[in-house]
Amino acid sequence: MCVKWLDEKREISSAMTLFVTTALFCFVGSHLRMPQELSLFWPVNALLTGIIVRFPWLHRTRNYFVCYTAMVLNDTIFSGWTGGAFTINFANILFVFVAAAILLASPPAQDGNALRVGKAMRIFAACLIASISCASWGALAQGEGMNEKLITAWSDWFSEQFSTGVLLLPFLLTLKRQTTLSRAVISTKMVLPVIALILSVCASAMIGGAGSLSFPLPAMIWCAIRLPIVATTLLMLITGITEIILVVDGIITIQGGDSSLPLSHLMSARLGVATLAIGPFIVSVSMDAIRRLNHQLALRADYDFLTRLLSRSGLYEQLRGREIASCQRAGVMIIDIDYFKSINDSFGHDAGDAVLEELAQRLRNVVGDRGLLCRFGGEEFVAVFFNVDREALWHHAESIRQAIEQEKFVLQGNTVNITVSIGIACQHRLSGKDRISAINGLISAADKNLYYSKRNGRNQTSPALHECIA
Ligand code: GH3
Ligand code: MG
Ligand code: MG
Repeated sequence: MCVKWLDEKREISSAMTLFVTTALFCFVGSHLRMPQELSLFWPVNALLTGIIVRFPWLHRTRNYFVCYTAMVLNDTIFSGWTGGAFTINFANILFVFVAAAILLASPPAQDGNALRVGKAMRIFAACLIASISCASWGALAQGEGMNEKLITAWSDWFSEQFSTGVLLLPFLLTLKRQTTLSRAVISTKMVLPVIALILSVCASAMIGGAGSLSFPLPAMIWCAIRLPIVATTLLMLITGITEIILVVDGIITIQGGDSSLPLSHLMSARLGVATLAIGPFIVSVSMDAIRRLNHQLALRADYDFLTRLLSRSGLYEQLRGREIASCQRAGVMIIDIDYFKSINDSFGHDAGDAVLEELAQRLRNVVGDRGLLCRFGGEEFVAVFFNVDREALWHHAESIRQAIEQEKFVLQGNTVNITVSIGIACQHRLSGKDRISAINGLISAADKNLYYSKRNGRNQTSPALHECIA
């Protein structure tokens, strides 16, 4: 049985899920606190933002109130706070609300849709504005006066919120509900960038210094190119957390004590890591967009695989192009193989395919570069000619019909007589505005004429020559 923890129709159980999640992560977060009563990581705010953005119907005042209550309760019970629990946690809710509101103004697409670069950048903007709002309220709520301590408090709040948000949100918003990670084939191509990433983090720890934080950047970009977006965002998260922990534990030593502002090393590490994350994430989003685009292009192949003639979409693509722009008259013919089903029935599908290939080649020989040739579907072909009159079009059609009829096909050692029926239609003045729909109209008209060819005994072109001249 699949339990839906968050369900729009079950408001109370969804609110309870939010409450429990908030309380649980607040509990974990408060146990990660450092002696100075700062949180090394405060994942709750980014986590709640991620949940609300993924389930936009949660973006309601009462749900924010539920989260706020869980935060206050956790601090009252486990931290022994009283008034502070109310004021300080308002800063946390402010982050969640501001970030979610910005992201939901145009939510980053998930699952089926590509996360576009512009929308990915919105995550950073949202984290920045939400962190500023949160830090401003939080620092004041901590009761610092207008002095250096206020700047220190503000910078701690800001750097903590910004780094956590920037590291966690890309992962939460790209995580698929049914992740395809497990199905992805893990190859050497994918493992090497991850090894490089691990080695570069080790190098940061061994070499140290301010620049060491950016050592993993090239490996992260490599990961972004090689790995799926969700794997890249997860590695960014792990690398970022690892670097912050290594800095705090003094394993990565970064200098910066001569800063003119009273900023801590931790502030520098958090900002450095957050900035580091932007590049690979953007590369990853771009790569994802390129992969999807390639896939779409492959699906919309403009050429028919079997006959290598234009496909239907390929024909329209060509019609949008050069030739149609300058032409005044156009003629269209539809060519349909007679009793093609019986060829399949007698000789099999492969023999049918061979006939289609051979027929396409003969059509190509006759039409050449005088017109566009397309496999319209099944055993039907369309040829479009420009600047022809009806009589010329009829002669083209007859050349094609005869080229098929006169040279027999050989199928599995048997000589087979194959014929085609053709319908033609011509227009003398193509309307300037929508020439594609004019050609479409001609295709419909030719199709009606094809029906007459079939009805009158097949192996012929309709309308007949005398009707074309008249
Ligand atoms: P008609 O003279 O009235 O056009 O008769 P027909 O048998 O040619 O027309 P019908 O529409 O009854 O059958 C068309 C057949 O073409 C049925 C389908 O199996 C076959 N066909 C369509 N596409 C392909 C293909 O790619 N390969 C093969 N081998 N057969 C195909
Ligand atoms: Mg047919
Ligand atoms: Mg047909």
